[in-house]
Amino acid sequence: MKTISLEGQVAVVTGASRGIGRAIAEEFIRAGANVVVNYNKTPADELTALAEKEGRRAVAVQADVSKVEDCEKLIDTAVKEFGKIDILVNNAGITRDGLLMRMDQNAWDSVIETNLRSVFATCRAASKHMMKARSGCVINISSTSGIMGNPGQTNYSASKAGVIGFSRSLAREIGARGIRVNVIAPGFIQSDMTSGLADKLKEEVAKQIALGVFGEPADIANAALFLASPMARFITGAVLVVDGGMAM
Ligand code: NAP
Repeated sequence: MKTISLEGQVAVVTGASRGIGRAIAEEFIRAGANVVVNYNKTPADELTALAEKEGRRAVAVQADVSKVEDCEKLIDTAVKEFGKIDILVNNAGITRDGLLMRMDQNAWDSVIETNLRSVFATCRAASKHMMKARSGCVINISSTSGIMGNPGQTNYSASKAGVIGFSRSLAREIGARGIRVNVIAPGFIQSDMTSGLADKLKEEVAKQIALGVFGEPADIANAALFLASPMARFITGAVLVVDGGMAM
């Protein structure tokens, strides 16, 4: 049986305390990676315990990725702890939904800073180390909202479309140094981010999904594991849509 291994790899996952980020960190640990698990408010201690059980090491680092200096601290800590970064997953994200007419500047700025500026700051810091190593893998989490648009999400859609443009440009900039940069665009996934949606809206959304159901964080984690692995060695600048057939 062929298994995907990340043995010996060091990964940084932002927003790893809950939801999709947590599932990605778990999957990477089980595949043999040592992982820096970033959190902001929710502690990620359970992941350090899981890593120990699996014979790996996970280090939890508090950093508010909406702040550039925190992003730099996160990457510096990873390099100090493990001596290198092989994989960077930018997963941390927020929504502050509202129609544009009623959207205040804070709702715009906070979403752009958390979802997009963080990607600039962590990639800038991590790519220096990856370029020296002449290898590396970046996975940025976007959204189908960044592809299709979604009413009430001009801020969120702009941030997630920005993640795609940023990632494709970076893939072209540093591909020759052996660094791959890819995007995962999830559709509707069961997590704290979507748990508050009204049942009626969930039913309406499910009708737009070919497979008829919401995905689970593990569905995104499996895609991330594939993109991080040597099986994806010739894939860069790609946007892998994982949405049960919604955005097609
Ligand atoms: P979630 O359950 O709300 O979890 C969000 C995670 O991001 C938490 O771990 C949170 O940590 C972290 N985070 C938020 N602000 C942060 C900050 N300033 N600094 C560091 N960490 C921060 O969301 P999710 O559903 O797992 O979403 C994960 C990613 O997938 C996001 O980028 C989201 O936009 C994207 N996505 C989700 C869906 C979906 O349907 N769920 C669809 C498309 C794309 P704390 O608890 O410590 O604040």
